[in-house]
Amino acid sequence: MEQVQANCDKCGAELVRDAAYCERCGTRTRRARRMVGIAIRVELLFFGLVVLLVIGFTWIYAAQR
Ligand SMILES: [Zn+2]
Repeated sequence: MEQVQANCDKCGAELVRDAAYCERCGTRTRRARRMVGIAIRVELLFFGLVVLLVIGFTWIYAAQR
């Protein structure tokens, strides 16, 4: 199970539940960092799919000529 982070890694201030940033120093919480990582991975996956589509269509048009 996911452990809820109760204190900031940097300054040790108490964090609001489900907070993305520390209210005192502005450091991202572990949960927020992981969410950013997931978002980047999804974006890269989506970008890869678009590239594959473009290559696929280019290949189809080239093959039709
Ligand atoms: Zn902090």
